Amino acid sequence: MDSEPNLFSNLPQRLAGLGDLAANLWWSWHPEARMLFKMIDRQAWKESVHNPIKMIRDLPCKILESAAGDREYLRHYDVVLSQFNKYMEKKGCWFLNETSGPDIPSIAYFSAEYGLHHSIPFYAGGLGFLAGDHLKECSDLMVPLIAVGFMYPEGYVRQLIREDGWQESMDQTLDRDAASISRVLNENGQQVVVRVPLIEPSIHVAVWKIAVGLVDLYLLDTDIEINDPWNRGISAHLYTGDIEQRLRQEIVLGIGGSKVLGTLGIKHAAVHLNEGYAAFALMERIRERVQEGLSYEEALNQVRRTSIFTTHTPVPAGHDVFPFQLIEKYFYSYWPSLGLSRDTFLQLGVHPETPDTGFNMTALALRLSKHINGVSKQHAKITRGMWHCLWPDVSENKVPIDHVTNGIHVPTWIEPKMELLFNKYFGAGWLDDHDNPLVWEFIEEIPDEELWKTHYWLKIKLIDAIRERTRRRWFKDRISPSAAVSGGILMDHSILTIGFARRFASYKRADLIFYDMERLKKLLNDRWRPIQIIFAGKAHPDDDPGKRILQKIVSACKNPEVGGRIAFVENYEEQIAQYMVHGVDVWLNNPMLNMEASGTSGMKAALNGVPHLSIIDGWWKEGYNGKNGWAFGEKKEDDDQDRTDAEAMYQIIEEKIIPLYYRCSDDSIPHAWVKIMKESIKSNAPRFSARRMVKEYIRKFYTDALKETF
Ligand SMILES: *Cc1c(COP(=O)(O)O)cnc(C)c1O
Repeated sequence: MDSEPNLFSNLPQRLAGLGDLAANLWWSWHPEARMLFKMIDRQAWKESVHNPIKMIRDLPCKILESAAGDREYLRHYDVVLSQFNKYMEKKGCWFLNETSGPDIPSIAYFSAEYGLHHSIPFYAGGLGFLAGDHLKECSDLMVPLIAVGFMYPEGYVRQLIREDGWQESMDQTLDRDAASISRVLNENGQQVVVRVPLIEPSIHVAVWKIAVGLVDLYLLDTDIEINDPWNRGISAHLYTGDIEQRLRQEIVLGIGGSKVLGTLGIKHAAVHLNEGYAAFALMERIRERVQEGLSYEEALNQVRRTSIFTTHTPVPAGHDVFPFQLIEKYFYSYWPSLGLSRDTFLQLGVHPETPDTGFNMTALALRLSKHINGVSKQHAKITRGMWHCLWPDVSENKVPIDHVTNGIHVPTWIEPKMELLFNKYFGAGWLDDHDNPLVWEFIEEIPDEELWKTHYWLKIKLIDAIRERTRRRWFKDRISPSAAVSGGILMDHSILTIGFARRFASYKRADLIFYDMERLKKLLNDRWRPIQIIFAGKAHPDDDPGKRILQKIVSACKNPEVGGRIAFVENYEEQIAQYMVHGVDVWLNNPMLNMEASGTSGMKAALNGVPHLSIIDGWWKEGYNGKNGWAFGEKKEDDDQDRTDAEAMYQIIEEKIIPLYYRCSDDSIPHAWVKIMKESIKSNAPRFSARRMVKEYIRKFYTDALKETF
């Protein structure tokens, strides 16, 4: 089955390749490809919010024709197109020693969200970016993988901050035809629509596809005519708070997703679940085998040996638990088709320590997968403790839950100017070998002045962008002067800048730095060595405590006593994340101890020379080496943990960070600071890359799972 062709009636023949390029997200992690779109019309590129499909569609023929007649442009075009075509021709699988195409067994990757680019808003936070980065890296590494997810026409939340600091959500529906997404068509040229098996009343999904380099991501869309309104709304929002609708989402993702792969004739030998939301996919795999004549036990055994489950959170609210009667309502005709009784079926989702609480999706995924991992060493340890009850016969450290620490897709998160600087000193081809720590030793060759100037340029870019956004809001929306101040109009690029951007889940303690307001005000308003802070982040629409923390921060920004030195940037999304992780001086992370499974935004910052100031948790427990940033957070029993942590944080800022940052030599370069920047880049970039991560998945799980023969 095919995807619809991209019809750009306005594209001259000589530039036809732009259509192919725009239709594959490969462009998003290749700056030279993005430049190709930008070169045509800088303004239009910006106005399309970096969405090539939309931009080309809206451009007058005249402009495209003039590009088609511009020799310099065509030179650039031909080079990028040949790189793209070469990339897309790659075939085979090195770790299975297979060179041919269609016979290579593949992995189906399931995730409820994907963070790929800001023009495709199908993510809420870190889990989504991890999935997006995983797909991009699997493409770069030629891992035979296909992915399944949701089309969320209304995205997550478009955040608008009211004058009183309360977060409002603004509706904004994605124009599916103006993004790098295409309909999957059947032989009659119509979009494929699949009925989710055995679920009554029936639910249908239409199928879309995003090409992520060599990896195809299939998206399920319930917003189609044939569905009744309740069903149409299943994929409207990520993580809906309505428990029944949430269950229906997970049924659609897991069972519907498997059915879609079957309908499209996509064979897969293994399944990788990114979090437990899609765990029903494993159930459906068992059912398919039972239907083919295997006993339940045999089917279970096959499915277990070829299933990989990555769990992502130690926070109980992160694990979905559904009331048994809801499960019964949707699955009463399902368990017979597995050859199971009601009770044995329900037992699959029971948490042995709290059997009455309901059907636990994590418990289900753990029971149906052989290959299980947490997303950092520390998180795996905590997870083994949490789920020891499922393996009561072994000691806790023998619980079969391994770890693969998260990583970020380096070509996506490295700032292009920084990349150019590295190109100059690391030698050609370094990016192809970026998980090799030796490559990064060349960081020492970069003169301090050049690295500092590049960083400083990025900081100016960030602060200019924030100010310009706020100015536009002032001009267009007539926001109040105090809202302009909280929007960052008084930000100053010569000041030490701390960045904090993430979801406003309470455990992340966005307001910890406000613990001692007087002490903070002194730091902000210091005559000679002040600091400033830039915040961004969204609270889940149902999370009132999160919204209150957000409101508290926005009000603080408006308080004249903080001197305009704290800003809150509205509507945190991928583009703002890029600006922030590239442009601040220090990346702050202060969740409650043992609550952050890994965290990834700090890795993005570290890669760009922005050192991490963080609770010693998640990835930072592995990354911190005493020279590449700062760590705090000591568990104190019977103490006020917030106070202990805040105290430690203030102390590091006052005694270490500020003196180092403002200590310049005669040449106006803070050499001691640049030393930390360099250490941050070289020690973290290779280790916390998605390349290292995907290779670890291959080594620990994928090879084994794909080599199973039944
Ligand atoms: C990286 C990223 C995240 C995840 O950040 P954490 O460190 O895991 O909190 C969330 N949102 C966006 C937009 C990101 O780019």
